[in-house]
Amino acid sequence: MNFNKNFNDIAENYLFAEVADRVSAYAAKHPDKKIIKLGIGDVTLPLASEVIKAMHGAVDDMSKSESFKGYGPYEGYSFLRDSIRGYYLSNGVQIDSGEIFVSDGAKSDLGNILDIFSKDNVVLVPDPVYPVYVDTNLMAGRKIIFADANEQNGFLPMPDYSVNADIIYICSPNNPTGAAYTKDQLKEWVDYANKKGAVILYDAAYECFISDEKLARSIFQVNGAKTCAIEFCSFSKTAGFTGTRCGYTVIPHDLKKDGVSANKLWFRRQATKFNGVPYIVQKGAAAVFTPQGQKEIKSNLAYYKNNAKVIAECMDRLNIWYTGGANSPYIWLKCPNGMKSWEFFDYLLNNAQVVGTPGAGFGKNGEGFFRLTAFGNEAATKEAVLRIEKLLTK
Ligand code: PLP
Repeated sequence: MNFNKNFNDIAENYLFAEVADRVSAYAAKHPDKKIIKLGIGDVTLPLASEVIKAMHGAVDDMSKSESFKGYGPYEGYSFLRDSIRGYYLSNGVQIDSGEIFVSDGAKSDLGNILDIFSKDNVVLVPDPVYPVYVDTNLMAGRKIIFADANEQNGFLPMPDYSVNADIIYICSPNNPTGAAYTKDQLKEWVDYANKKGAVILYDAAYECFISDEKLARSIFQVNGAKTCAIEFCSFSKTAGFTGTRCGYTVIPHDLKKDGVSANKLWFRRQATKFNGVPYIVQKGAAAVFTPQGQKEIKSNLAYYKNNAKVIAECMDRLNIWYTGGANSPYIWLKCPNGMKSWEFFDYLLNNAQVVGTPGAGFGKNGEGFFRLTAFGNEAATKEAVLRIEKLLTK
């Protein structure tokens, strides 16, 4: 037996472990200090009551032989796929329910989708980036090239026709930078992908934070995307499903290469390796799209968006350069006074007892930047901002 040697190429996942270690060491030394964590990427508000009600009803269904459910469809129940189709329609996007695959979350699908692509594809990933794109490709032994995201391009790299890529990752609104592409900018990526015969793997996990009409909520709002893109979406940040687990992937029927359909390959892959998302969870997810469900999740999103605004306004007052905040739960700021990411982490922890995430952990271009998140408690976020402002105006 031999292990997969590609694992040697993957960096130790030390970012959040190192953050946790430094925070515990500080807390042990200063038990009297109240630490505020603005580093988490997890939601904190509970599930909407409409979702809970639907899941309770689904549990009851399982208790009666006439409504009991065993194995469900690999691609998800039609009641949920139809609701997702309706949601897309409300954003001006027409897709067929057969193009929607329900899963246990975007992370799984983003990793698993690679099963349908040849190993010799060249992968283009923005830097900095959500680490899953890089690590899943390294595990499979694929060659990765990076698109530089930086202050000059507002952390939104645009296509370079001198670069030949086969698989292109785009995450918008982005984790960690909070930057989001306009529909016009995405059109340039779609044109590039169609020209090169490449596929765009579009991560829309944070689309629900978009309120600016110019920005894309779905890559399928852009003409030409159906022949070159797959979209990954999730109930995690939209509706607090990080622990409940549900997401969906849209693979258009028109996405083909040499007559082979990506949709068919993915169905075949899922039928072999996946047995569907629990009925109870899918019932909860479908409740998100009811009028009452939408009202409740929008109120939760408004809570997070207000936290983001509070942080962004603090950066404005301090004259600190940042991306995100307005259409994203993330604020990606340039560390003040030329500090490096970890230097600023220690400075904030030691002097303001506020925890964020060092940008250097997301790629080489993240050095000198820092991520704050809006998923915390409102009062704690306001307190953190006061502390940061006091420290940086000293
Ligand atoms: N994509 C991005 C960009 C994320 O930041 C996350 C989670 O933080 C995910 C996907 C994972 O989503 P899920 O919880 O649906 O697996």
